[in-house]
Order: sequence, then structure tokens, then C-alpha cells
Amino acid sequence: MSAPIRLALVGMGKIAHDQHLPAIAGNADLELVATVSRHGEPVNGLPFFPNVEALAASGVPVDAVALCTPPQVRRAIAQFAIEQGWHVFLEKPPGATLAEVAALHDAATARGVSLFASWHSRYADGVEPARAWLAAREVKRATITWREDVRVWHPGQDWIWEPGGFGVFDPGINALSIATRILPRPFFVETAELDVPSNRAAPIAARVAFRDIAGSAIAMDLDFRQEGPQHWDIEVETDAGTLLLAKGGSVLTVDGAEALAHDADLHGEYPGLYSRFAEIVRAGESDVDVAPLRLVADAFLRGRHIAVEPFVE
Ligand code: NAP
Repeated sequence: MSAPIRLALVGMGKIAHDQHLPAIAGNADLELVATVSRHGEPVNGLPFFPNVEALAASGVPVDAVALCTPPQVRRAIAQFAIEQGWHVFLEKPPGATLAEVAALHDAATARGVSLFASWHSRYADGVEPARAWLAAREVKRATITWREDVRVWHPGQDWIWEPGGFGVFDPGINALSIATRILPRPFFVETAELDVPSNRAAPIAARVAFRDIAGSAIAMDLDFRQEGPQHWDIEVETDAGTLLLAKGGSVLTVDGAEALAHDADLHGEYPGLYSRFAEIVRAGESDVDVAPLRLVADAFLRGRHIAVEPFVE
């Protein structure tokens, strides 16, 4: 086996600690060599830097970086990393705009490094079985319901409410990363309504009507104000039964009968992402699918913005 890929983790917030550190530790193809964050402290006694410029200047040998900062600041860090000759793993969404992701992809290709636009929800246990089941069916309609309590899941994350933070589309894009993987036909935005708190720049709720190229309707309901039971569900009605992919893609049922069950929320997702990252680095390839980001961008382009009551955390 070749030497492990020496990886630095950048942006040591919630997802870096909850998912990236354990997934990297569990992958023999990767070796964590440093962490980078403006605040915080070293992990396991490893070198710790306030920014990627200091990491590059340190002489610590690095092959790749995984970027877990908010999307608004990710492009500049990724561009710098590519210029160093480092492979780059981007947390989702891969950028704040489509054009910046395209520019990064071009830069990575020119520099001969791998760029990975990661979509963790695509690695949930039910996603590939759902894709296989739907491939042989005729989709009549689909409903995406992604309703979660922002105070529970995103406490103190002011960036989410800023331009480029996506608001409720920050989790909503996870639903679209699944839908673009499992639905057999391309689909596009027809109409959208975005509820934007009067004191914030990004939507707290949204309703998006998509249609696929054969005319089937796909409705998406996103809401950050959900209290009580939380919903991360995609229901697809077909000519041969109804598929429900629940709990963020981890529980699959067909006509009410459980086809696959897992109680782990994200446990399989990040190991899957890092295996894929190691695979593309070894193969000298990139993996950059912007389909989910394109649909979110189109919802903002096509949508009616509706002012709603202020959101105070
Ligand atoms: P977070 O807890 O706010 O962490 C982001 C980290 O990035 C911060 O701790 C911060 O650390 C660093 N950072 C660098 N520049 C920043 C800036 N200008 N403003 C704010 N923070 C800055 O966010 P997160 O939940 O980990 O999410 C990060 C990314 O992962 C997002 O794109 C999100 O969509 C994605 N993600 C999150 C989850 C989740 O469940 N939370 C799940 C999957 C994916 P320093 O201050 O130390 O630099």
C-alpha cells in the first residue's frame, strides 16, 4: 500500500470535530498532520496554525487539505491550497457561487491536483438502494420535506444567515444532493417562495416547485422553525409503489415496509466521503458535481422573496 495521504483539517467547528476527525482517524489511507483554525487548540498534540498561509510557511509536509469553514470564505482558502499543490476536499456546499466552484475546478485541473466537492448525504445508507430501486420505476411525483430546528442544529452559526450562507438551504442542499442522485430524470426549478426574516439576509423557510423533464412534479418544503419531531424525508410515488427515504437518507421503506434501517445519523457518511477522497487522489482525478448547488442558485434566481418576522436566536 502507498504512503498515507498527509492531510490538514481547516475550520475546526462543529462538523470538523463531530465527523471529520473520527473519519480521518478511521482511514488508514489518511494521516492527519495538522489542524488550522483561527481559534481553538491543537488536536492530539499535532501542529496547529491560525491560517493556511502559516501552515504552508511552517514546512510541515502536506498532501491535502479538507476545508470545513463556512462557504463564504472557502474559495480563497481552496485557491491558495491548490497553488501549494495540495489536493482539496470541500465540505458542502462546495462554494457560495457556481462560478467560484468552476474556477477552482479549472485551477485544480491546471495544477494537477484533485478537487472533491463532497456531499455527505449521498453516502447515507439508503441512497444507493433507493437509486437502484427507482431506476426501474416510473416516477409520478416526489415530495421533499426538510424541517429542522435551527436553534438546535445551528446554534451561534451567524454565517448561515449572511449572504452566501444559504439559510435554510444549508440543510436543504443535502436533500437536493440526494434527490439529484436518486431521481432518474433531471429536474429544474419552476417556482419558489423564500421566507426571509426582516433582520436577516438568508431564508428561514422555502417552498420550491420543481419539475422533471418528463413533467413529473417535485415539491420541496424547507423550514428552520420546526419544533418537536424533525423531518428529513423524501417520498417518491411511482407506478410500482411509494418509496420513502427518511432520516436524511438512512432509512428506506417501500410501501411502508422497511427495506433498510439504520439508526446512525451520519456515522457511515464521512467514512464514505474520505474513502472516496483517497480514491480520487490516488487516481489523479477530481469529483465535482454542482447539480445540488445549481438548483439552490436557481431557487434564489427564480424565487419570490417574502419578508417574514425577525429571527432572534
Ligand atoms: P461551524 O461550527 O460554524 O464551524 C465553522 C468553522 O470555520 C468555525 O469554527 C471557524 O473556526 C471557521 N471559520 C473560518 N472562517 C470563518 C468565518 N469567516 N466565519 C465563521 N467561521 C469561520 O460550522 P459547521 O457546522 O462546522 O459547518 C461548516 C461547514 O460544514 C458548512 O458548510 C456546513 O454546511 C457543513 N456541514 C455542517 C454540518 C453540521 O451538522 N453542522 C453537517 C455537514 C456539513 P475558527 O473561528 O476557529 O476559524
